[in-house]
Amino acid sequence: MLKATNLNTTYDNREVLKNVEITIEPGKITSLIGPSGAGKTTLLRVLSMLEKPKSGNISLDNKKVEFPIQKNDQASPWPEVSVVFQQLFIWPHLTLRKNIELPLEIRGTLNESKQHLDQLYRTFDMAEYLDRFPNEVSLGQRQRVALVRALALKPKYLLLDEITSSLDVEQSAIILSHLTEIKKQGVGILMVAHDIDFALSNADTVCFMENGKIVKQGKPYEFLLESKDQRISNFIDSASLGSANVRMYFGQEEFQAYHLALLERLQPNSTITIIGGLGKTWYDPMKDKYAQYDALRIKKNITWNMLMYEYGDEDSRLAREHPELNKLFTLSKSMKNMADININSDGTVILQIFDPIPTVIEIKNQALADSYLNYGSLDNCMGKV
Ligand code: ADP
Repeated sequence: MLKATNLNTTYDNREVLKNVEITIEPGKITSLIGPSGAGKTTLLRVLSMLEKPKSGNISLDNKKVEFPIQKNDQASPWPEVSVVFQQLFIWPHLTLRKNIELPLEIRGTLNESKQHLDQLYRTFDMAEYLDRFPNEVSLGQRQRVALVRALALKPKYLLLDEITSSLDVEQSAIILSHLTEIKKQGVGILMVAHDIDFALSNADTVCFMENGKIVKQGKPYEFLLESKDQRISNFIDSASLGSANVRMYFGQEEFQAYHLALLERLQPNSTITIIGGLGKTWYDPMKDKYAQYDALRIKKNITWNMLMYEYGDEDSRLAREHPELNKLFTLSKSMKNMADININSDGTVILQIFDPIPTVIEIKNQALADSYLNYGSLDNCMGKV
């Protein structure tokens, strides 16, 4: 593990890192997000020991360094840690191949690394432009070179600072799939990313940093479902790109959390329209969280408008006990092949899969929600129960 405890750093008497605690585990991706100036890059520099913090300690596997450093202590950058900075630091007068090989040459390990290098060049599909100079390739290709140069050193921990900032969605996805491969080989990855989708997909842990502190740490979906901490919600909303309009919540824990968070964010007295539901299937994955969901829905007076071709016992019970909150309509049996679609009053549409793994696909699109509502209200397929 690469672990920092109680890290503090100041620049010109200004505190930039305040009591930061962070752990990077081998074989895991940790994403670091937060507004510009929060201290993310500084944390990367300090973790790799390119820069010394004012106080605190950093340990790597079984080595530990305490700051401030005592006279005789060694504190050179960890050889097991590679960092890729936003600036890339690629020499303009050397070919890309030479840029990658130079650190190995300096370490005296170039010859024994040839096979590994060839494998990296193949994986990152870069043979074609390796012998060009940096100004003869695209920024995306230069970013790949910086990543490969870091990997060539076979790091145990890889720290990445916004390495996809200039890439399009497709190129970012390629890099992300490579990172997932690298993680599987046991490398611990810490990545600073401003593209929230990139930061949250495939991360095992997410840390949100603000004003030099890590203010929240959790699983990716806990950030997407965030509703209580307005600062984090605002940050995620403002940093999300177009692709963030479709998100998937996978597995029972996320399924339950999604539905609870949805209820929390909907306005009181609003409506959820459910089209083509499948009787009791929804209640099963909600299991132990269903009572909490039900209580919250009643408290917020949120109506379920159910347009279904078949009702389960629980649906009928709800309609009996709370007719004002549970409006049942029958759909023609001919619509039986429809997916379970929910249309929420905040303009989101969700598609649900219950079996074998409960899944929610959320689409934020008011026009789509409106068109589903029109579809669902066609007179010829609907009758009041
Ligand atoms: P982030 O990566 O989250 O945008 P940084 O770590 O780059 O944040 O910066 C955190 C704060 O420290 C900022 O206010 C920045 O201006 C300041 N800072 C960063 N590097 C230096 C430096 N070398 N000297 C003085 N101030 C710095």
